[in-house]
Amino acid sequence: MRVRTVFVVAGLVGTLALGGADPYSPQRERMVREQIEGRGVRDAGVLRAMRATPRHLFVPEGLREAAYSDEPLPIGYGATISQPYIVALMTELLQPAPRHKVLEIGTGSGYQAALLAQLSGHVFTIEIVPELAKSAQATLRRLGFMNVTVIQGDGFKGLPDFAPFDRIILTAAPAEIPQPLVDQLAAGGRLIAPVGGFGVQDLVMLEKDGAGKVTRRSFGAVMFVPMRRGRE
Ligand code: SAH
Repeated sequence: MRVRTVFVVAGLVGTLALGGADPYSPQRERMVREQIEGRGVRDAGVLRAMRATPRHLFVPEGLREAAYSDEPLPIGYGATISQPYIVALMTELLQPAPRHKVLEIGTGSGYQAALLAQLSGHVFTIEIVPELAKSAQATLRRLGFMNVTVIQGDGFKGLPDFAPFDRIILTAAPAEIPQPLVDQLAAGGRLIAPVGGFGVQDLVMLEKDGAGKVTRRSFGAVMFVPMRRGRE
């Protein structure tokens, strides 16, 4: 078996320890009001987490001024940090709760993982690009998140060692939802994914009931980077 690098995020207890005032809070408040609440996201936890998370620290330094604008931004290695509204919408659809163990595929900047960490018990997040896994881990540690584990590896396989997961979110698009991820979803669990590979995808939700039966719903068109195939 290929050796995976596991970074356990440790840091200051649960606080977004930034030290001093945050000059970006007016921009962040405006983002939440206009882009998130303004488009109908109502979940109190999602709104609270978005107000508390310094998105500008998850983008490359040269793009900080654009961190709260209504668009995805490039973060290197062909990856993007998703548009704030899409992050909010997917998090609201996922309905994470404090008792939940969550799996994210596509750590990228770590921003989505930071939101999930505030709304669930523990987040495991897999990133295929080693440099992104490392920098996301550093950002999350700096902000004090204790309950996020960043793993460099191939999301197609999920994380059988830590399954089942109450919630699974894919932030890179596969052509079809990988079966290992469906298998690793807990009974009563929910999975959100952009499905369709290159170009425009369909935002899909799977729900697994207590008997293991899976139902599928669709929430319209989204655009994500495609999931890459890892080397065996
Ligand atoms: N959730 C991220 C955005 C992710 S962009 C954020 O909040 O910033 C999609 C990410 O998925 C990219 O970083 C890309 O490298 C990663 N990715 C692509 N294919 C993957 C795979 N097979 N396994 C894990 N990560 C993958």
